[in-house]
Amino acid sequence: MTGIQLINPATEEALQTIAHTTLEQVDDAVALAQTAQKRWAALAPAERAAGLRRFAAAVEGAIEELALLEVVNSGHPISQARWEAGHVRDVLTYYSAAPERMIGKQIPVAGGIDVTFLEPLGVVGVIVPWNFPMTIAAWGFAPALAAGNAVLLKPAEWTPLTAIRLGELALEAGLPDGLFQVLPGKGAVVGERFVTHESVRKVVFTGSTAVGKRVMAGCADQVKAVTLELGGKSANVVFADSDLERAAATAPYAVFENAGQDCCARSRILVERSVYDRFLELLEPAVKGVVVGDPTDEKTEMGPLVAAAHHEKVTSYLDESKVAFRGSAPSGDGYWFAPTVMLPSGRDDRLVVDEIFGPMVSVLPFDDEADAIGLANDSVYGLSGSIWTRDLGRAIRVSRGIESGNLSVNSHSSVRYSTPFGGFKQSGLGRELGPDAAHAFTETKNVYISTD
Ligand code: NAD
Repeated sequence: MTGIQLINPATEEALQTIAHTTLEQVDDAVALAQTAQKRWAALAPAERAAGLRRFAAAVEGAIEELALLEVVNSGHPISQARWEAGHVRDVLTYYSAAPERMIGKQIPVAGGIDVTFLEPLGVVGVIVPWNFPMTIAAWGFAPALAAGNAVLLKPAEWTPLTAIRLGELALEAGLPDGLFQVLPGKGAVVGERFVTHESVRKVVFTGSTAVGKRVMAGCADQVKAVTLELGGKSANVVFADSDLERAAATAPYAVFENAGQDCCARSRILVERSVYDRFLELLEPAVKGVVVGDPTDEKTEMGPLVAAAHHEKVTSYLDESKVAFRGSAPSGDGYWFAPTVMLPSGRDDRLVVDEIFGPMVSVLPFDDEADAIGLANDSVYGLSGSIWTRDLGRAIRVSRGIESGNLSVNSHSSVRYSTPFGGFKQSGLGRELGPDAAHAFTETKNVYISTD
């Protein structure tokens, strides 16, 4: 049996080896999930709601344990890892209200009544990346379960530990055996099988745009539903009339959080030309103030990159001639990379175009509002972004002008479980979270009942 040796990215110490799920095991899991799903969907809505609340309570009881697993497996700072585990609990709690609110319509028609039902899809495959292993998994599995589906979850190869524990917690909480199964393994084996297996009726994929396109093309073969949450190269647009001190003080946390391994990272800072120099002056101490170090330390704000291969990729973008300034990072063992501010050679520099997915940000000047919107939109991606201005009209005009799924004015907020999240253009397809997410795991069935 093949498997993967996990490595603590902060120390390079070997952790355990995780066996990869084989193709035959995936097929067995699908069969088990099909049986479990039928029983789950047949339960009273209130019973499914209670099951999800028990699952949320089990996660609540394991927050410290889950957080510590993320610290050693992914290098996330402990304070952030605790937030992530708490977020999983919150997402489950939020969607535990959904089973009793899967409300169809009654549509006026002649000769009878017409009603719609929101039917579960059946078995749903959720494929997640390594950057936020437990939160992104919960965005898929919680609403899918709430809508009456079974879920097969494939964690990323490098970061399976929290997902595996969540699978155990679901069983401990009394969810039926087979309803929520975690299948660690290779994308090309487990992930691909979700795409090709006829009985998996939806694939929720979060990861790179390149693999997402392949998943979507594969799903087309069976007209299978797909949600895609893909890459980003989001803009942080700073106008001269903004609170420049606050914009500069917060900008590092909008891109260096999780060591820049964040699909919503504002990795392009666009600054109105008249305040460009002043902004850079203010940004430098803010960047140097980011606390990078041991993820187990409560004060740490940024940990290492996730793996040696990823460190190599990020380092390939480090052109010393374009470095404006850098923060600090530990030396020695661990995949450390100091927060780095780059001044690209122009608007088509690969620093500006590519999703680097590390703690590296490019700063560019713009001339006016139209130029800012044009520059923000000059990307194949459209996931997130921030707008800093004191002019309310401008804030609204620019928010409407930027082709992006999640914008934030005078802040850098992206994700709340109660609001929809997803991308424009090549950042994705469909929306997760928010009040409607469970509906994305249903088919609408229309039934006409004659009164004659
Ligand atoms: P990746 O595309 O390499 O892998 C993502 C997942 O897909 C992994 O579990 C992997 O095993 C699996 N996979 C790989 N090949 C597959 C295949 N042929 N069929 C099915 N599954 C396959 O991405 P990554 O490097 O793990 O994650 C980083 C990327 O994820 C970045 O581009 C980032 O922007 C994106 N991301 C997007 C969001 C979002 O919500 N938009 C959130 C987090 C990360």
